[in-house]
Amino acid sequence: MNDQDIEKGLMACVHCGFCLQACPTYRETGDESDSPRGRLVLMRRVQEGSLPMAEASGEEGSAGYHLDRCLGCRACETACPSGVPYGQLLEHFRDRQEREMKRTTGSKILREGLLGTLTNPTRMAIALRGGKLTGGRIPAPIARFLGLPTDTAMPLPTDLKAAGRPLPEVTPAQGEKRGRVALLAGCVMRVMFAPVHHATARVLAANGVEVVCPRRQGCCGALHGHQGHGEDARQLARETIDAFEKDDFDAIIVNSAGCGSMMKEYGHVLKDDPAWAERAAAFSARVKDVSEYLHALGPRPMTRPLNVRVTYHDACHLAHGQKVTSAPRALIKAIPGITFVELTDSEICCGSAGIYNFLQPDMARSLQQKKVANILATGADIVATGNPGCLAWIQSGLPEGGKAPEILHPIELLDRAY
Ligand code: SF4
Ligand code: SF4
Repeated sequence: MNDQDIEKGLMACVHCGFCLQACPTYRETGDESDSPRGRLVLMRRVQEGSLPMAEASGEEGSAGYHLDRCLGCRACETACPSGVPYGQLLEHFRDRQEREMKRTTGSKILREGLLGTLTNPTRMAIALRGGKLTGGRIPAPIARFLGLPTDTAMPLPTDLKAAGRPLPEVTPAQGEKRGRVALLAGCVMRVMFAPVHHATARVLAANGVEVVCPRRQGCCGALHGHQGHGEDARQLARETIDAFEKDDFDAIIVNSAGCGSMMKEYGHVLKDDPAWAERAAAFSARVKDVSEYLHALGPRPMTRPLNVRVTYHDACHLAHGQKVTSAPRALIKAIPGITFVELTDSEICCGSAGIYNFLQPDMARSLQQKKVANILATGADIVATGNPGCLAWIQSGLPEGGKAPEILHPIELLDRAY
């Protein structure tokens, strides 16, 4: 964002407060500085130079402290009648935070280590194998050094091999061909949630769509952008565009809400780069969440009734980042035998928010507990949600065994019904 865009974005806030009750952190603390309106005031003061970001580093009550506590969920954007581009402003100020704030050594190692591991499939695969040795737990002395609770654990897939089984480069369409799309494999999705990719390819193929998963593709840059590593995010955006744009696909399909939200914003991310601005805008216009693509295409009838009670959690970057809420619900409701029950506060963040659950564990756990309580109150057999962070974080908060619901990506539910 250039200075003019920042000024315009900050000025758009008329302090009406409509966003307050939509904001998970304000609902938790009741503190104006933990609200969108309060954070916009802090941003304005930093922008004007009356509140230095460097001296505000993580100190309770400072600008940095309250910006760190923001989930980046963008629920405030959905609620805002004035069109404040909160997500873009937050990414700009996060960039400044990372350049100007003094963080502790443990905090720096935690932030860089998480980003460098989660966004690199090779490192992530090694970390998952290491995690198996400790049952996913981070040893207490290391957790203490990193400033984490000593019971911090990584949610691990039960079968690592299946979790990382790559998709074939081409999955042919079945029956009359209705489309040809490319699928983003991503980074975390590729090593922890490959079964979701396989389900996506099978469901699209069953609907007459050929699915190409280009081999030369990497991380989309979403986590970098959200964590204040703007230049890395821009470079990863260029590489992703380059990997996908050469072929004439009908759409670029994403099954991870955070990645889809970022890729739909490449036009904004690269708008000040003359060599890429036009390509980025054209690329973003072709990005679709798998649910919106399939819903618009019109799904073929599903043949296997599931006879289960299902609820749905709105991943923030699908509901608020992409404004996609009705397509996944419509697809789930089209499954024969399903009883669909709405989830209270479905659109409120579960606390995962990229790596937020590691950086702000107390707030994240409190939000996770509320989400799980609401899920259990539905009596659902299955909770569906379209983002890897939500899948892993909600899973780790659900009670074990007994009548605990299963958690699935919506496309996995559809896959069971085809
Ligand atoms: S992004 Fe989410 S947590 Fe941050 S101010 Fe907006 S609603 Fe609150
Ligand atoms: S709803 Fe929008 S205009 Fe109103 S206080 Fe919140 S950010 Fe500002």
